[in-house]
Amino acid sequence: MKYHIDTIPIWDALHTNSECPLCALRRKTERLLIARNLGAAVMSPDTRLKVNEKGFCPHHQVMLYNQPGGNRLGHGLMMLSHLQTLRPKLERALNKPGQSGHARTGLARMFSRAGNNQAEQARSPLSDLAGSCLICDELRVQSRRQAASLLHLWKTDKAFRDAFARSKGLCLSHTELTIAMADELLAGNTLETYIKTARALLSESLARLEEELNWFTQKFDYRNAQKPWGDSKDALERTVNKLRGWCLGSEPMQDEP
Ligand SMILES: [Zn+2]
Ligand SMILES: [Zn+2]
Repeated sequence: MKYHIDTIPIWDALHTNSECPLCALRRKTERLLIARNLGAAVMSPDTRLKVNEKGFCPHHQVMLYNQPGGNRLGHGLMMLSHLQTLRPKLERALNKPGQSGHARTGLARMFSRAGNNQAEQARSPLSDLAGSCLICDELRVQSRRQAASLLHLWKTDKAFRDAFARSKGLCLSHTELTIAMADELLAGNTLETYIKTARALLSESLARLEEELNWFTQKFDYRNAQKPWGDSKDALERTVNKLRGWCLGSEPMQDEP
């Protein structure tokens, strides 16, 4: 697969010295997508069509709702036309007869006790109709592009290889993603050294975070109250971000002015 390579944002993200430059970029992209979806794109027919089909997940609804400056009208208009697209489909799904063909409707089946088991839920048409998110989908595509750009730099730029090897590496899921993609995008020595470096950076980071988090918890003991925090003040946020991808603490990258 061919990816659009953009290396400058990767360097910028690496310079933030966060627990994962790809998370820093992903978060910046996420904020950009939220602002764009509530801005001029609200009225763009192309975006409208996509929003109508996919809607937004709860996490991104919250971001849209809490966007500084707010745009309740824009958010409301998007949800109105999404609802208008969704309703006829839901009506059809809800009124579909149950598999046995008798009076139990699709609706009854969906909300029945039997519907609580996992197999029934997996077949539920609701998950197809109201389980998608336009921003999650776009973020997934952009994250893969960003990972491909990082691997391209690893392959072509010695200065980057050196800087990356001195960094805190990537979070758990971006380590996994880049190693999987490296198989496709790198070969020979660059592939081997990338996998070795990414794994070593991850285990070193986890060992460091364990120490930092341990001191973070000990600081709550009154006997340690006067001792210095060292690097542990935000160890909780950084540990969560390393294990689960960025989700806590201050924004890892500021938006461009
Ligand atoms: Zn990450
Ligand atoms: Zn989402």
